[in-house]
Amino acid sequence: MDSRLEAVRDTVLARNPGEKEFHQAVIEVFESLGPVHDRHPEFLEGAILERLCEPERQIIFRVPWTDDAGRVHVNRGFRVEFNSALGPYKGGLRFHPSVYLGIVKFLGFEQIFKNALTGMPIGGGKGGSDFDPRGRSDAEIMRFCQSFMTELYRHIGEYTDVPAGDIGVGGREIGYLFGQYKRITNRYESGVLTGKGISWGGSLVRPEATGYGTVIFAQEMLKTRGASFDGQRVVVSGSGNVAIHAIAKAQSLGATVVACSDSAGYIVDEAGIDVGLLSQIKEVERGRLTEYAARRPGASHVAGGSVWDVNGTVALPCATQNELDGDAAAKLVSNGLIAVAEGANMPSTRSAVSVFQEAGILFGPGKAANAGGVATSALEMQQNASRDSWSFEHTEQRLTEIMVGIHDRCAATAEEYGAPGNYVVGANIGGFVKVADAMLAQGLI
Ligand code: NDP
Repeated sequence: MDSRLEAVRDTVLARNPGEKEFHQAVIEVFESLGPVHDRHPEFLEGAILERLCEPERQIIFRVPWTDDAGRVHVNRGFRVEFNSALGPYKGGLRFHPSVYLGIVKFLGFEQIFKNALTGMPIGGGKGGSDFDPRGRSDAEIMRFCQSFMTELYRHIGEYTDVPAGDIGVGGREIGYLFGQYKRITNRYESGVLTGKGISWGGSLVRPEATGYGTVIFAQEMLKTRGASFDGQRVVVSGSGNVAIHAIAKAQSLGATVVACSDSAGYIVDEAGIDVGLLSQIKEVERGRLTEYAARRPGASHVAGGSVWDVNGTVALPCATQNELDGDAAAKLVSNGLIAVAEGANMPSTRSAVSVFQEAGILFGPGKAANAGGVATSALEMQQNASRDSWSFEHTEQRLTEIMVGIHDRCAATAEEYGAPGNYVVGANIGGFVKVADAMLAQGLI
């Protein structure tokens, strides 16, 4: 790391003790930014990094709710409004028992650069709760969402802060959250949340966007080596929103996706994952992957273990942070891997990223590769503002153009800063310079 940035890093780490995922995200970005400060000493004078690492606002609140038996539960809610230099805070809500401030801050910090890379007018934020939706009835989920929004509503708005989904928050939860926002404010403010249902302000392609976008980004990386998805053997982690649509898109481009996972294990299906069956089990029935193996001839389920034990030429980590470590990366590389695109946020540990880069593997970091979700959320906001709704084809075309644009900007920036082919450097510098310029222009705020 550039020595001028080390002191800032040390201050950030000391000011935010115990937030290890936030530390990891900050260090990863700082490691790319030395050359930028050679060219832009004004960023150092303006203390841009110090300001960037301190969220503009952090909200932590109590979320009380009752289960179906009438028992009272209390969870903790978060919204970190990180940076509004480029537009209203924008980023998802995560409901998962592992959620604490350090996770929300890592996600919000990443979101600033990701949103800048899309070229859309959106700032960075993130939120969520340590609520565990697994095994809860629809009525319990609704009561939780209503209680969560009863506090959150006063902090958000279409020109202020626009949440969306993430792990544990999909169309059902966005519906309950939107209903409660509307009820409290007496406003049909479509642009306050994205990921809405198609019949009430949502955008076609939004559910597919993150997974599709990840595969489009990977396809652009493969093209730089004269390759494509056609004929690739793909391994995916996760089996939620991002994973399912990444699998569908990769297979539509001629790949065979042979494995995917959830938090209890993984399935192997050498004939290629049946996306219809997977979606039925995970999205409709909210079941487990063991069900897939039971219903699909030729497929097997491995309880526990790591999906990265399955060999493939392309890996798409689409589950959660730090799910792919250095050992798993080394095994994938020795098994013939050529490319990795992160559908999830920060799924590869720092040592895994080093292994991939040292082996010359094409590596697309999450803040670039999975930006299709938030980009399509911005397209949803655009449609809401103009009271319009676009066709699937038109929206998918826009998503494709945006992902190709992000790929090309990352590649060009990496080249410009002396690191050709390094998409980590390209994404970090590309996103950072845009935000830093806007922060300087807007004065000391
Ligand atoms: P979902 O809740 O739909 O699916 C998450 C998947 O990951 C599930 O298969 C889940 O398994 C698995 N998973 C979650 N946490 C863990 C864990 N701690 N260990 C092992 N497996 C885990 O979430 P999404 O698909 O929306 O999100 C997946 C990733 O993509 C996240 O990193 C998210 O931040 C990122 N992302 C999502 C976007 C979106 O538009 N939704 C946009 C950009 C990034 P199980 O069901 O067993 O819990």
